[in-house]
Amino acid sequence: MRDGKSFSTDLRVLICRLCGAPLTASREGGETTCDYCGAVSVLSRCRDERVRITDPTLQGEPDPEKRERLRMASLERQMETYDEEKNPYAYYGTPSGLEHLDLEYMDPTLPAIASEAFRKAIADCEESGGELNDQRLVFWIALKLKNMWVIRDRPHDARPVIETASEVLTDPGYRQLMFCKMADLARKADDLEAARAWLARCDPRPPLLDLDSDYRTTAAAIAIRQGKWSRVLELVGRERGDVPFEPSSVALLQLQRVEALENLGEGEAAERELGWLLDALDHDFLARWLDGSKMLASCKSVWDRIERGGRVSTSNMEHRDAPGASGPAPDRRMAVYVVIGILVVLCIAAAAYLLT
Ligand SMILES: [Zn+2]
Repeated sequence: MRDGKSFSTDLRVLICRLCGAPLTASREGGETTCDYCGAVSVLSRCRDERVRITDPTLQGEPDPEKRERLRMASLERQMETYDEEKNPYAYYGTPSGLEHLDLEYMDPTLPAIASEAFRKAIADCEESGGELNDQRLVFWIALKLKNMWVIRDRPHDARPVIETASEVLTDPGYRQLMFCKMADLARKADDLEAARAWLARCDPRPPLLDLDSDYRTTAAAIAIRQGKWSRVLELVGRERGDVPFEPSSVALLQLQRVEALENLGEGEAAERELGWLLDALDHDFLARWLDGSKMLASCKSVWDRIERGGRVSTSNMEHRDAPGASGPAPDRRMAVYVVIGILVVLCIAAAAYLLT
């Protein structure tokens, strides 16, 4: 399993519904016995189809270029009216009924408690025929477990959780998010071939902002690992404002851009883009994030150069205190998004580990 191919799409690794142990199954399905508890699971054939998320407004436009322009305009509007509390794909807060999972990722009791809650959520979801709130709970617990294993530097243990969720969830948006997470886990485990294979199951042009941002940052992380710097910029944009984004991903998107610009030899542009982030982001937080991040290795040198150049950053507090204040310049709006995004990231404790 840990030979560098452990995220291969040729394998199928699920959780045992009875004890939560990993279960290696065939893609054809059938009876599978758990090595740990002996329970026999009867599995259906694995669906390998790619996710395609339809939007009647966009599908009605036959010209692909016009369709893409319409999609981007729609994503911009979604960014301007973003409300995470109404968004089923946002990983914010703790859903009602799951308060007992509100534990630190390193809490020793979390793996057993969350694993049990995951199996219950899956059973409820299957019993209700995939009622949307049940799907949201499966999605949320799957991400909680995934983050927990990543923080513990055990990305392989997250695979059965995410793969099981990808098979149980029927909503195409949730399935897309699970495939993106599998791609990202494979990248973290240095299995780039599998990372690309999982990403290929996603819709590269989804009509929803959360799904679009997740696809962009996941694909950009893989492209960074491959040294495909121009591809990174295609995904995250050359300048801030080039692509709309879901608030919690803005800092990551901006740092991926800095990484690409620096490696393309565009040092000044890299400094400009990082400088903007330094104005809006808590510096200690950013330092912890960059420390030990393989993906963002060049960002630190850009930061060092900015500091050596004696650049004076404007106050963080100016932006934090001013969401409702005067000055509705686009930059101010962007800064507000950054602050929102950062607060979210901070809520996901020890985010730095998630973004290496
Ligand atoms: Zn078992």
